[in-house]
Amino acid sequence: MPIAEITAALAGVKHAFDIANLINNSEVSLDAAEVKLKLAELIDSLANAKIETAKFKDILLERDSEIQRLKKQIEKDDNMVYETPYYFLVQESGEKDGPYCQRCYDSNKKSIRLQSPNKNGYWKCNECSSDYKDSTYNEPVFTRINRSQGRSGWTL
Ligand SMILES: [Zn+2]
Repeated sequence: MPIAEITAALAGVKHAFDIANLINNSEVSLDAAEVKLKLAELIDSLANAKIETAKFKDILLERDSEIQRLKKQIEKDDNMVYETPYYFLVQESGEKDGPYCQRCYDSNKKSIRLQSPNKNGYWKCNECSSDYKDSTYNEPVFTRINRSQGRSGWTL
């Protein structure tokens, strides 16, 4: 929580400021040992404030990185177009890239490119094993081979 780090850093700076004021205050007389002790306290407070500030910096960098990731995800969502039965990613040039798996994208925003080894309109996702048949797909037609031709069985 960055608020906790900010609060701790501010408390350390305030404590250091109070000690510096005490040392600097002409109405309070401190002997050398007391001054040395207060200076050690002052250094300790500043060191703690420095540590808390460094933590805060790390948190801000982490948040910046997360914001960038989310911005890219939103941009991708805007460019991901569903065309039954799968998704395409529309490039800046207007060209469509894909297709991508509908199930993987809808369930966890993963852009998994579908594979179609036979280029016949049948697509498969290697991530979730979903399969898709687009409008170009034709069911294979099985025909019985005539026994008079010397062979028996089924063929495509
Ligand atoms: Zn998938």
